[in-house]
Amino acid sequence: MRQPLVVANWKMNMTSPEAKDYCQRLRELLQETPTLAEVVVCPPFTAIETVRNAFLGSDLQVGAQNFYPAPKGAYTGEVSISMLKALDCRYVIVGHSERRLRFGETAETIGEKVKVAIENGITPILCVGETMSERSLGMTEKVIGQQLLTCLKHLQPEQLPQVVVAYEPLWAIGSGRSATAKDAAQLAKYARQRLQRLMNGNTEAMRILYGGSVTPENIQEFAAAEGVDGVLVGGASLNADKFAAIARAYGVK
Ligand code: PEP
Repeated sequence: MRQPLVVANWKMNMTSPEAKDYCQRLRELLQETPTLAEVVVCPPFTAIETVRNAFLGSDLQVGAQNFYPAPKGAYTGEVSISMLKALDCRYVIVGHSERRLRFGETAETIGEKVKVAIENGITPILCVGETMSERSLGMTEKVIGQQLLTCLKHLQPEQLPQVVVAYEPLWAIGSGRSATAKDAAQLAKYARQRLQRLMNGNTEAMRILYGGSVTPENIQEFAAAEGVDGVLVGGASLNADKFAAIARAYGVK
């Protein structure tokens, strides 16, 4: 049984004091009506410690949005996986399309990050997704299949269940235009089958999320989608009330 996972990607938003207020509110809301989903907030590096402290003693988790896959050294401006570990991060987003497009991250680097995260006991949330033109050409499955294989190639089959995959069509991110739950379910099914065939891993235990313009208004649809184990939320996660409503769509205790 895969526990649903609801992840906030704050991107480059929220100062540390803003994060503190948000987390207090989120904690209150989810204490009143606890969700069955596992809830993770991925703030900018500068607010990780604040979020970690605000969540102490609750089931809420803190994650990160990125890291550099070297252990330490002359990498000005970067943050290592052990630095995230020391702040109790359980998850790290890897290969978000904004990092691929704006910061030139390649599938090779992303594959390395996935491996380093797993070796250090932090769950990578690997983002994959197609552009609108790839979709129009009917290439969605081919593109996603290729991204998955390149980014997961350093793993042993038994490590696959330790990865979370987030299907995030690029055209749906921040656009207000989400994919359909049917699209997300089909893609999740395809990803499991393809990885099962090529890596012979236990893909039934692997969690696959959907991300792209998820809101409290459309979450019911995604929460009901077969084989889709949760959501990665950008814009709507910046409001604690909206994010709590999304998390509660997975059922309350
Ligand atoms: C994201 O950037 O991961 C994302 C899903 O953003 P949004 O929810 O704003 O589309």
